Amino acid sequence: MSECVFCRIVAGSIPATRVHEDEHTVAFMDIGQVNPGHVLVALKAHAENVYALDDAQAAAVFRAAARVARGIRAAFQPQGLSVYQANGQSAGQTVFHFHIHLVPRHEGDGMALTWPVKNPAREKLEEHAAKIRAALR
Ligand SMILES: [Zn+2]
Repeated sequence: MSECVFCRIVAGSIPATRVHEDEHTVAFMDIGQVNPGHVLVALKAHAENVYALDDAQAAAVFRAAARVARGIRAAFQPQGLSVYQANGQSAGQTVFHFHIHLVPRHEGDGMALTWPVKNPAREKLEEHAAKIRAALR
């Protein structure tokens, strides 16, 4: 038996309240519920983080996330919806099996994300972009 809680949910060995399932993904209610309608979309296969996804998995999980987001909007009519996905402990990842949070949002709901903008010079942006482009080759 896997120690991974999401692998155990996929296998059905621990309960989850499912809202959607397809060949590659399963979506279920987050037991924490930041706001009503808060859903997690996870891959069925164990992949620790975004870096572990192949192209088919990446496409499947975001296709499912967009579909479930439309369902949340229709069901709850939130003012907004945050799509949150963390990779690594320093990014806030607590379950090390790839998943996307879909969080319905409302003014004053208390959910916060600190966004410490640095506004670097254009030359610095070009330098950083060049590093990423080189890594993509
Ligand atoms: Zn897992």
